[in-house]
Amino acid sequence: MTLAVIAVGATVGGALVYTFARGAQTKKRHEEVDARVSKLGRNEPVSLHPKIDEHTCICTGACVTVCPEKDVLGMVDGKPKLINPSACIGHGECMRACPVDAITLVIGTEKRGVELPLLTSDFQTNVPGLYIAGELGGMGLIHNAVNQGAQAMRAIGEGLAAGRKLAAAPGGDVLDVLIVGAGPAGLSAALQAKSLSLRFAVVDQEQLGGALRSFPRQKVVMTAPVELPLYGKIKLRRTTKEALLELWEEVVQKTGVPIEAPVKVNGITREADGTFAIDTSTGARRAERVLLAIGRRGTPRKLGIPGEELPKVTYKLIEPEQYRGTRCLVVGGGDAAVETALLLAKEPDTKVTLVHRNDRFDRIKPDNQQLLEVARIAGTLDVRTSASPTQIAADHVVVRGGGHGTERLPNDFVFVAIGGELPTAWLNKMGVEVKTLHGEAHPALGGR
Ligand SMILES: Cc1cc2nc3c(=O)[nH]c(=O)nc-3n(C[C@H](O)[C@H](O)[C@H](O)COP(=O)(O)OP(=O)(O)OC[C@H]3O[C@@H](n4cnc5c(N)ncnc54)[C@H](O)[C@@H]3O)c2cc1C
Repeated sequence: MTLAVIAVGATVGGALVYTFARGAQTKKRHEEVDARVSKLGRNEPVSLHPKIDEHTCICTGACVTVCPEKDVLGMVDGKPKLINPSACIGHGECMRACPVDAITLVIGTEKRGVELPLLTSDFQTNVPGLYIAGELGGMGLIHNAVNQGAQAMRAIGEGLAAGRKLAAAPGGDVLDVLIVGAGPAGLSAALQAKSLSLRFAVVDQEQLGGALRSFPRQKVVMTAPVELPLYGKIKLRRTTKEALLELWEEVVQKTGVPIEAPVKVNGITREADGTFAIDTSTGARRAERVLLAIGRRGTPRKLGIPGEELPKVTYKLIEPEQYRGTRCLVVGGGDAAVETALLLAKEPDTKVTLVHRNDRFDRIKPDNQQLLEVARIAGTLDVRTSASPTQIAADHVVVRGGGHGTERLPNDFVFVAIGGELPTAWLNKMGVEVKTLHGEAHPALGGR
């Protein structure tokens, strides 16, 4: 009996010590993340995120415990805080877990406004016939994108059917609807279009999958059950990037929805007859309606040099360890390029050259300035200013300038980080009205 009591006591005691030790570890990690992110100046959320009312909050930490993303919400000085704001994707689990309703999901901040297109309840913009679904409309998350894609397409189908009672469909090669983007919103819209027997096409500048393709390998993806038109219910809640991509491929195969990729839409013009002329990388298209499902990540700017189409050229760094022991060239002079080069240079046996066309890195944050200088002096990073790549080949890159004349550098991977075109710039060009939100609840969330 006494032995049993001692054994139980020891087990409970051990568990408590373990829990406290882990708690202390987590607290320390959260404080470190908070300090690091603030130092890097990455403390502005880019999407929907929680706003914590500190007068109502009773600091139970329930919001931190339920957050599905690692080290995004943390306890700092005993209070919950968004410690890695730019990694928050607005799951909203924190809001639901708060016992005293101290959390609101908001978009934009006082400092950084987020531009959202103004949409009607059927996802139409102020440009008649031009619709928007998915993250571009401001609501992130895969299940929201899937639901909105299908809803928007049903509205498009109803509008077209009503119009046909008044006038026949334009003949020739005019589509009923062109869907731009084959992420979750575009895919679901395409399935709905097929189920309504519409004449449609879906194009993507990259490939099927959307933002999911940029997730780190094996990332745990949290989602909610959704109904995919023509395919049925998908009951996933917790899966991985790879499993979800496989599922999207299977859906496309089973339903026969044609995805045209890579096809980039460069511009859209509404003609006098109300149809749209769409300029794409593979030629002109015409459609009665256009559904933009292009997300919010934008299009990376290209170098426009021979060899850029090679698979070794990439526009973002997802997993630095993947490039360990290789020879990498990073092109660009902003924070993204410098941070990419510094991350790669930390990998053992990795040789990194940073090429910038100007003579100075005058746009980058002071911390990056300092880290760059340290890496340059230590010789872990080969920095070439006033230089540009002129050609990319399978095993080398030709770089001109930077005091080395024209040089052929042995190379395995090229990272291009020279900015890009944001979707909001596009919306402005097409005359779509946008509203800038500064830390207000998303209109579709109805205040919470
Ligand atoms: C790191 C990370 C982790 C995330 N984790 C989760 C998670 O766990 N759970 C979750 O629910 N959500 C998560 N999200 C958010 C989720 O990925 C997005 O909300 C969702 O993918 C939005 O879908 P979408 O179809 O609106 O846009 P996207 O998925 O962004 O797809 C847009 C598509 O449009 C194409 N496109 C863009 N411009 C053009 C053009 N001019 N011409 C042709 N095609 C074009 C793009 O190539 C892309 O394929 C995460 C996001 C990130 C970045």
